Amino acid sequence: MKLKRDKFRNYFRKNFVLLLVLALITGSLGACGSKDDWRSREVTVIDDNYRTWYEIFVYSFCDSDGDQVGDLQGVISKLDYIADMGFNGIWLMPIMPAASYHKYDVKDYLEIDPEYGTMEDFEELAAECDKRGIKLIIDLVLNHTSSEHFWFTEACDYLESLGADEEPSAEDCPYYEYYNFVKGNPNSDVWYQVGSSDYYYEGMFWSGMPDVNFESQGLRREFEAVMDFWLEKGAGGFRLDAVKEFYSGATSKNVEVLTWVNDYVKAADPDAYMVGEAWEGLGTYAQYYASGIDSFFDFEFAGPTGVVTKTLTFSGETNSAQAYAKALSRVQNAIREYREDAIDAPFFVNHDMARAAGYMQYDERKVKMAAPLNILMSGSAFVYYGEEIGMTGSGKDENKRAPMYWSADASAEGMTRGPLDMEPQENQFACAEEQMKAEDSIYSFYKDTILLRNQNPEIARGTVARLEEVEDQDIAAISKTYDGKTIYLLYNISETDEKQVTMSAEQYGELDIAGYLSVDGGAVTMKDGVVTMPSYSVAVLRPAES
Ligand code: CA
Repeated sequence: MKLKRDKFRNYFRKNFVLLLVLALITGSLGACGSKDDWRSREVTVIDDNYRTWYEIFVYSFCDSDGDQVGDLQGVISKLDYIADMGFNGIWLMPIMPAASYHKYDVKDYLEIDPEYGTMEDFEELAAECDKRGIKLIIDLVLNHTSSEHFWFTEACDYLESLGADEEPSAEDCPYYEYYNFVKGNPNSDVWYQVGSSDYYYEGMFWSGMPDVNFESQGLRREFEAVMDFWLEKGAGGFRLDAVKEFYSGATSKNVEVLTWVNDYVKAADPDAYMVGEAWEGLGTYAQYYASGIDSFFDFEFAGPTGVVTKTLTFSGETNSAQAYAKALSRVQNAIREYREDAIDAPFFVNHDMARAAGYMQYDERKVKMAAPLNILMSGSAFVYYGEEIGMTGSGKDENKRAPMYWSADASAEGMTRGPLDMEPQENQFACAEEQMKAEDSIYSFYKDTILLRNQNPEIARGTVARLEEVEDQDIAAISKTYDGKTIYLLYNISETDEKQVTMSAEQYGELDIAGYLSVDGGAVTMKDGVVTMPSYSVAVLRPAES
């Protein structure tokens, strides 16, 4: 025993310096750990429709069978990637058989496009999403079908078979009613001739996508069966395409169609989630909430001239952080005017828009900062695949739908070739594989942003109010109140380091920093009610007791 103790004593003496160094390292790790403390806070996931969604273009996402076209099994293989980022919702762009690569021209509403896999693959995907707490919604294109859909081809064959004096009748061909046909040339560039007949059909987008006629009750019954079918297969709801074109230019008629869709789907599944694409200004798309549909995409904040881009890249008071905070209230108030429980659907870009990194001239700090400006908004937030790594893509539509940049090696497992008419894309930021390893990558920043959102349920669900007493133009200061709790979000949207914001205990009660983001990795600190923020940073403050 004694010998052993002496040995230990000698060992201790010999290695004193080593032990001291070890102790110092452990201590400094502890200090680093405090920087990361907020990340270890509990995540409070509520199983409702205020989610963080990932939009996937299956074609370009992940290939499972080596043909370089993405497929459903490829999506399944990346579910852990998606869940690990903190997403708890997925929107799949159209997956039904279609003539085009993008598949917004549906040939059969009750099948999976063979390029993407089988119905069994879809059911497996739905089950795997379910295991991970991910709600799966699919694109539902009701405005038009493919010109190859049998409803349309039968209707056309029927019209062409009519004699010169014969009037068409839905009794002879029910599909005739499903579309907008007229006799005689309307001389409009959205109307197309049926063969060599006197009949013309409407195609708002192109000749391959004839618009349907919602006056037809037969058509509505068909679509009801389609909605039932997919809910039954495991879809948790729908993203509704091009809803403003149901009756182009007639908002109240479009709202009527959507009211029918909403009533039907919610009767079948009260938990289903639906989000509509009404690509209009706020004043118009807000009106669509009267339909009862949960969400409509927030075009006010999106794209190259939306609030987020303006805040980060335009100058002047109207594009300041203050203006950003005001816009949050403006959108909230506009949509609640039409429905008190409206769920905003913020997004930055989608498959129809150039990718966001280009709006920021590939300035990495701004590309990062755009994430919280979108994802920390109230409502259901949407992220287009590849935005989390700052992918490139602008110009023609195909370029906006480029292969997910998993690996720098284009022939690596899972890599897709992208749409055939895509121009070669050169990404400015590293591939996902590399960014996942780097703590200071765009990917890691997105992941932290979503984590912050998931830790604080008030962020997605809270009612926003601007803190008018914070007058600094570079600071957006808001409160979010949900379920009787109020938290505060401060955004330093400027190059200025060490910005100070006073959040006095007298006014706001004792607050703690619940978490923060900063593009350069510097810490947000708080002392005696004064919050000090690095350039381009966000802080979440919670009452000290909660
Ligand atoms: Ca494939």
